Amino acid sequence: MATKKLFDADAYLCEFDAKVVACEKAEGKEGIYKLVLEETAFFPEAGGQSPDKGIIHLAEDKEKAAEVVDVQIDKENIIYHYVDKEFEKGSKVHGILDFEHRYSHMQQHTGEHIYSGLVNKLKGYNNVGFHLSDSIVTMDYDGVLTMDEVRSIEKMANDCIYKNLDVLCEFPSEEELKNIKYRSKKELSGDIRIVTIPGYDVCACCAPHVHKTGEVGILKVMSCENYKGGVRLSILCGSRALEAFSNKQDALSEVAHILECSQESAAENTRRIMNEVSRLKGELAAARTELMNVRLEAVEKSLENVIMFTEAVPANIIRNAVNKLVAEHAGICAIFNGNDEEGYQYIIGSAQKDVREAGNLLKEKFNARGGGSPKMVQGSVQAGSSQIKEALGM
Ligand SMILES: [Zn+2]
Repeated sequence: MATKKLFDADAYLCEFDAKVVACEKAEGKEGIYKLVLEETAFFPEAGGQSPDKGIIHLAEDKEKAAEVVDVQIDKENIIYHYVDKEFEKGSKVHGILDFEHRYSHMQQHTGEHIYSGLVNKLKGYNNVGFHLSDSIVTMDYDGVLTMDEVRSIEKMANDCIYKNLDVLCEFPSEEELKNIKYRSKKELSGDIRIVTIPGYDVCACCAPHVHKTGEVGILKVMSCENYKGGVRLSILCGSRALEAFSNKQDALSEVAHILECSQESAAENTRRIMNEVSRLKGELAAARTELMNVRLEAVEKSLENVIMFTEAVPANIIRNAVNKLVAEHAGICAIFNGNDEEGYQYIIGSAQKDVREAGNLLKEKFNARGGGSPKMVQGSVQAGSSQIKEALGM
C-alpha cells in the first residue's frame, strides 16, 4: 500500500508519529535496513532532488534511534527509509527531520520554480533537467540565454521574492486540470500536484515548497554555461546564497588586503600585476640569454670538453647554448641547470663522441633520469656539482 505523504499537506511538519509496516535488511548495504511506515514526513529522492535527512526512534524509547541515510520511493508510491537500525513490524516510531536541511531544499526548489517560470514565460524554454543536491542547484533549459537575459531574469525573480506572494500547492480534479496550463517535465498520470506562484509560474511538482516567495530570501545565479544546445544555470537561494556571499566576501577581502587596494579595484590591480609579471619574465629571459652568451664567450676555445653549471635558465636557452658549445669543442659539452639542494636538469651534447656513456654514468652513480641519442642526452639528476664533475671526469 502507498505510504501516506505527510509533506504534501504540510511542508513544515518536521516531527511525526507512525507505525512500522515493514523493516528488512537492505540488499548489498551492510548494517542498513529498509523501513516502511504507514505515513512519513521524509521526502524521498525524486525529480532530481536529494532526499531528506533525520532520525527515526522508537516512540517509547528515544535511545533506540536510527539515522535516516537515504529515502527512496517506488512505482507503487511506497517510501523506503534506509536506516542504520532494525525496527519491529507493528511498532510505533517517531520521526524527526533535519529541518534546516529540508528548509534549504524548499528555498532552493521554490526559487527554481520562480526562475524557470520566468524563463518559460519570456523565452518559451523548458526546464529539461533539474538537480538539487546538498551543495548545488542546476537547471538545464532547452534554449540559449545571454548573460544580459540571465541577469534581467534574476532581477525579476528577486522582485517576485520581495512581493512575498503565496505559493499554492494543490491537487486539482481531472476536470479542473483540463483548464489549467502548467509546466511539466514528463507526461503525468494519477493525482497531479500543481504548484502555483500567481503571475509567475504554474508547474506540476511533488516536492515541498515554502508558503511565501519571501522565504526564498534571495536568488543568485552563480554560473551559466552552454549545455546540449541550451544552457545550464546554477543558482543559490536563501541561506546557501548567504553562505556563498560570506565566503566570497572573505576571499575578496583577503585579495584586496594583499594587493593593498579596495575590493572594487582588486581585479584591475591583479591584471596590472600580471602584465608586469609577464613583462619582467620577458626582460629576465633576455638578460639570462645575454649572460649565457657572455659565459659562452669566456670559455677557453682550446678546451676539448666543457662543463657548466647554471641556475634558473629556461630550457630553450640551455639547449641553444649546448649547440653553440658543440660547434666549437670536439669533446663532451654539458650544461647542468639547477642547484645542489634541488638537483639539476642537464643537457649533454657532442659532435664526435657518444654522450649516452656520460648519461649512463650519471644513471649508475646518482640514479639520474633521462635519455637521448649518441649526439645529445638530457634528463635530471639529484647530486652536487662537484660530485657530478668527478663522476664525469671533467
Ligand atoms: Zn518542482
